[in-house]
Amino acid sequence: MKEDRKFLRQCAACKSYKQKEDLIRITKDYKTEKIHINLGNEINGRSVYLCKSEECINKFLSKKGIEHYLKTKTTENIKEKLYTVLKK
Ligand SMILES: [Zn+2]
Repeated sequence: MKEDRKFLRQCAACKSYKQKEDLIRITKDYKTEKIHINLGNEINGRSVYLCKSEECINKFLSKKGIEHYLKTKTTENIKEKLYTVLKK
């Protein structure tokens, strides 16, 4: 169905479109400037999406995607959280 397309989000690493459920959502809170991984829609902020694959996470991190899209530094904490999502 065509209507489903608007629910698709683009992976920032491989640029493919997927359902939100199949992606990792990285959000920077406008107020606190903290980075949240997969916290749902209750946070207002800038978001970027990634496939749940090590390849896309690696590509995103190596291209400094966090800095580029979210204007903040990539911390070890963020990296750890991203890779934790894969293990679930
Ligand atoms: Zn991807």
